[in-house]
Amino acid sequence: MILRFTILGSGSRGNGTLIEAGPTLILIDCGFSLSQVKRRLARIGKRPEDLSAIVVTHEHRDHVSGVAALARNHDIAVWATPGTAQAAGLGEVAGCRVFDSHTPFAVGAVEIMPFPVPHDAREPSQFVFSDGARRVGVLTDVGSLTPHIVECLKGCDALVVECNHDPAMLAAGDYPPSLKERVGGRHGHLNNAQAAELLGCLETGKLQHVVAAHLSEKNNRPHLARRALAAVLRCETDWIAVADQEQGLAWREVM
Ligand SMILES: [Zn+2]
Ligand SMILES: [Zn+2]
Repeated sequence: MILRFTILGSGSRGNGTLIEAGPTLILIDCGFSLSQVKRRLARIGKRPEDLSAIVVTHEHRDHVSGVAALARNHDIAVWATPGTAQAAGLGEVAGCRVFDSHTPFAVGAVEIMPFPVPHDAREPSQFVFSDGARRVGVLTDVGSLTPHIVECLKGCDALVVECNHDPAMLAAGDYPPSLKERVGGRHGHLNNAQAAELLGCLETGKLQHVVAAHLSEKNNRPHLARRALAAVLRCETDWIAVADQEQGLAWREVM
């Protein structure tokens, strides 16, 4: 069975990540309009009808703005924590199911292990996806690392990790002080150094793919994220992939 993932777009203007294991295709978040998500799916050879489920991390617009329309129009099941479902108004979507952020659940061939994260949303979670043999960890929209996050992400074969900002660029940038505080705070977004720190806590020997995601277009640059992560992994900077807001990331297969 082939296990692979791709990103439709990543950043504050819209997010969507796909995990495919054999016949199962899961979309994590949809911060795109219906026409946008169709166009982005077509780009990677998929249609909305191919989706087995949409799994939602939290209610922020860049993650949920397109979830209800996509689910309704194409009769797709949506999974969210009770807090996210309520805050995002997903309770009215017919196929909405809730999960507990400490309890694994399955969609087709994929086992989904959610874990809670500190972020300024009602009940945010992030995930490890597994086909039983291989594990893909996804972590964005998280203000600080917890021992539980580190524990959950151990032993992954591929990792998508938020590199939202470079602390110096955020400090020197033109955001108002309150927004700087929010983004850089414990319930905000992970910076390049925190993402590197996370990699330093994991056994990274098995990692086949590391993708920097949710980069701020104002407060970060791809080469800064690459440099921070490559320093910990002792790899070439080019080996670190960066998910782009417009182009996302092409399919990556996990062997
Ligand atoms: Zn976000
Ligand atoms: Zn968020």
